[in-house]
Amino acid sequence: MTSYEDKVPGAVGQADQPHLDSALAGAIFAAAVDAILVVDGQGLIQAANDAALVCFGYAETELLGRNISILMPRSDAVRHDAYMHDYQHTGKRKIIGIGRELMGRRKSGDLFPLHLSISEFQFNNQRMFVGICHDISERHRLSEQVAFLASYDSLTGCLNRHQFQQSLSEAMRPYQTDGQRQAVLFIDLDDFKAINDNHGHGGGDRLLRQAAERLRGALPKSCLLGRVGGDEFAVLMPFDGGMNRASEIAHQLLHALRKPFDIDGRLLTVRASIGISLFQGGCQTADDLLNEADMAMYQAKRDGGACVRFFDQTLRERAERTYRLLTRLRQAIEAQSFELHYQLQVDLQTRQPTGIEALLRWRDEGGQLIAPDEFLPVAHAYGLMPEIDRWVLQRACRDNMTLIRSGVLDVPVAVNISVPSFSAADFVSRVRQTLADTGLPPERLALELTEETAMSSLKQVRQNSDLLIRAGVSLSIDDFGVGFSSPSRLKELHFHTLKIDRSFVAGVPQSSSDVVIIQATLGLAAALGMRVLAEGIETAEQAEYLCSLGCAQGQGYWFARPLPLAQLQQRLAAQEAPDGTDEAG
Ligand code: C2E
Ligand code: MG
Ligand code: MG
Repeated sequence: MTSYEDKVPGAVGQADQPHLDSALAGAIFAAAVDAILVVDGQGLIQAANDAALVCFGYAETELLGRNISILMPRSDAVRHDAYMHDYQHTGKRKIIGIGRELMGRRKSGDLFPLHLSISEFQFNNQRMFVGICHDISERHRLSEQVAFLASYDSLTGCLNRHQFQQSLSEAMRPYQTDGQRQAVLFIDLDDFKAINDNHGHGGGDRLLRQAAERLRGALPKSCLLGRVGGDEFAVLMPFDGGMNRASEIAHQLLHALRKPFDIDGRLLTVRASIGISLFQGGCQTADDLLNEADMAMYQAKRDGGACVRFFDQTLRERAERTYRLLTRLRQAIEAQSFELHYQLQVDLQTRQPTGIEALLRWRDEGGQLIAPDEFLPVAHAYGLMPEIDRWVLQRACRDNMTLIRSGVLDVPVAVNISVPSFSAADFVSRVRQTLADTGLPPERLALELTEETAMSSLKQVRQNSDLLIRAGVSLSIDDFGVGFSSPSRLKELHFHTLKIDRSFVAGVPQSSSDVVIIQATLGLAAALGMRVLAEGIETAEQAEYLCSLGCAQGQGYWFARPLPLAQLQQRLAAQEAPDGTDEAG
């Protein structure tokens, strides 16, 4: 290229200033990383360094003598000419001396952001300008990316939670007083955790991306879609068509999710639950509205999922009650204010004990015993089961060891285990550790799983079952008959015992359908080599009838209520015949 000195000889200083060696000045000009352009008073380019040629994409011969405006977007070029004219005549500076961000235009026509500083100098009594510019495209790209990430969810391209709430607040503000209505839809994919567990987080992510795409496609343009949690989406819609319209859109969304998703070549069916809350003016905040839609969504889940529910005040009261219970429950876990009561399981023919079942009780601040049905659903919903199950397992093994050592009873203790505990990767090692810590032989421990756990397709559940059975621990399916068990799955599992749910026992012997179900269960168990225990036996008639049907074991108030360890010990030691004594409170 033409050097700076060739083009602008002696250009490095004014006559009265000390001269910088012109060869050195030329070398600096050529080596500069930033683009340097020298322009005369008419705006014609007099010199351009290599960096300028690379930056704008011209050969030197294409630039020299051309008006500098070819390097600008057309709209700026017009303004630039006006500034030059102004400056020549009035001396008013618009851009000279100021570093600023502008757009440049490459030879290809592409526009790009640049940082430019211009200074003026006199050369041979001529006014000249030197512009130093730096291509800041990369910086712009990064800040756009940061801005995107601050507002959007990078996985699905939906608004993120923060931005969704922000947009919701903004949409609500003008209508806080005039009663204009907005609706928020809260969408949660049912059983998404199982998809993550079975297909890995990559599979889960692919599903979320496709689900977001379908939701977007099913929404009218006037709606905003946000991803507000792992598998949770929210929609903000102008509520102009009334509740029917909101419900119609929610059903459109359910419909859009209905077709199976193709995840790595496997077709997965995903259902969703949707809650809707309405804003009708007033002092509700975006948070309130989102929470209400969330509560309605939980109601949809409680109602079996794959449905739509509207928020109403009773849901708030229920949520507040749950929250109070949850707070107390957390404190109870902390303070270990739980107890275990034990209920005998007996041989229906000999009436001899065959096992005991550990049943959890919570003694509240007032000394009252709270039954598990009251607090376990909350513990389940808020992820507290693993902690509770851990405590129960430890205590039940220890107590059974105490019973065995005291010589009054030597049978297995049955411990109820929830799905989250049983599907944990470290569950088997924890059981082994507990047995080692307490000295209880594995044959003296039985674990009771619900049908849901036993039939779960989770690999870990299957693996844990196999390992525990091999270790000598027996496994039972609790409340059999109320869930969905597949006989072929039962055959693979090698569980020891089926516990017939007490709802069937309650109908014995009057209800012919209950009797038929029990007979079918006995037949199935016999075919699979499993033992059967009937739960909830409350009368002598039930006990005898079940025994006559061929059911080997039973459990229920007729034989014994659940009792604290000490009372059970006393009763066994006194060798009292089990009767219907009330559970100690
Ligand atoms: P489950 O495992 O099926 O336990 C049997 C339930 O039936 C117990 O209720 C017991 O008190 C009750 N029961 C026993 N005999 C009779 C009877 O003759 N008639 C009637 N009506 N009921 C009878 P409980 O103790 O209230 O426990 C309810 C459920 O809570 C249990 O059902 C079990 O699913 C769960 N649970 C109890 N303790 C634990 C625990 O330590 N961990 C876990 N994960 N779940 C537990
Ligand atoms: Mg049980
Ligand atoms: Mg049961």
